[in-house]
Amino acid sequence: MDLFEYQARDLFEKHGVPVLAAAIATTADEAQVVATKIGGKVVVKAQVKVGGRGKAGGVKLAENPADAREKAGAILGMDIKGHIVRTVMIAAAAPIESEYYLAILLDRSNRTFLVMASVSGGMDIEEVAHTAPEKLAKIPVSAVDGISAAKAKEIISAANFPADVADQVASVLVKLWEVFQSEDATLVEVNPLVKTKDGKVIALDGKVTLDDNADFRQPDHEALIDQAAENPLEAAAKEKGLNYVKLEGEVGIIGNGAGLVMSTLDVVAYAGEKHGGVRPANFLDIGGGASAQVMADGLSIILGDKDVKSVFVNVFGGITACDAVATGIVQALELLGSKATKPIVVRLDGNNVMEGRAILNKAAHPLVQQLDTMDGAADRAAELAAK
Ligand code: GDP
Ligand code: MN
Repeated sequence: MDLFEYQARDLFEKHGVPVLAAAIATTADEAQVVATKIGGKVVVKAQVKVGGRGKAGGVKLAENPADAREKAGAILGMDIKGHIVRTVMIAAAAPIESEYYLAILLDRSNRTFLVMASVSGGMDIEEVAHTAPEKLAKIPVSAVDGISAAKAKEIISAANFPADVADQVASVLVKLWEVFQSEDATLVEVNPLVKTKDGKVIALDGKVTLDDNADFRQPDHEALIDQAAENPLEAAAKEKGLNYVKLEGEVGIIGNGAGLVMSTLDVVAYAGEKHGGVRPANFLDIGGGASAQVMADGLSIILGDKDVKSVFVNVFGGITACDAVATGIVQALELLGSKATKPIVVRLDGNNVMEGRAILNKAAHPLVQQLDTMDGAADRAAELAAK
């Protein structure tokens, strides 16, 4: 999960990274109130999860609260690379002397963590990385050792930070590592990290990506989710404990086992080419013990997707045999009643397949049709979706 700048700023503050006073506002009036509380010159900053806000006009200095009100009014509602600004952060303005760059990230290809550091930070850092890569130091960090004070010093000197700020920057880097490690982040970036005219080093902008795989041990992170941006189907599926990802097609997919579901997406996409380019509408793995309730939950999520025109249930009976799955489907359709409105193509194979098919034949639900093979069922589901 990517965080908004204000959320990153709050995490920085929690871990002792130097930041300036700030608060968010969603209206121009509110922005004026916040600016009055902070006092003096402020900077008004669009809160959108996309880079390059400064260049897009989403970061503006304001001389006083009335000016902050005006600037916030202009920034709120702005479209920055397809992101509409709904919130601004009002922060105390810093008198900037130099802009630096610091980032800690997960370097997947080298199976390590990596620090990137530069004394040429600011809005053109991508350009610097491209045209003068020697100005961007890249230092691997071991997961075991992390960033000690000594390691931070080594990084700071490799990046040629001036002597007068070296200690402060090193201390910021150690604290950023604390943010990275204790919050389970995969990215912590500060651009710019500034030196002010009175010689203080402060993080003026923050970008943090949290590792969703660590959610189970980070109960506080749930509050950071941007509810307005959540896909409602994915949110509903998550609530029911389903492994569901919304895609952009028309054929709803239910399968058991991640591998089988992935291949089902492939065969449906392939079959769909012959039927006007219809595509899978979702990934949904109902797992091993596919009870009637889980099948009903899965079907109701998929049937609630207005893009879905047909459903393909592809199950390979294992420990949970096909007859149990077939019974689950029949009971699920009973539970759903009139909410089940779209054709459902079922392909069962594996343990107790004959018993499973017999159960579905006997129930003879008008929306359900069975096919024996995965390819045949994918083709039928695609054909029904194209109608
Ligand atoms: P980004 O463009 O999305 O990365 O937004 P930033 O928060 O990094 O702001 C862009 C630029 O605005 C920075 O590189 C600074 O030059 C400038 N800026 C941001 N905050 C302040 C501030 O408090 N004082 C001054 N003078 N400039 C600021
Ligand atoms: Mn920035």
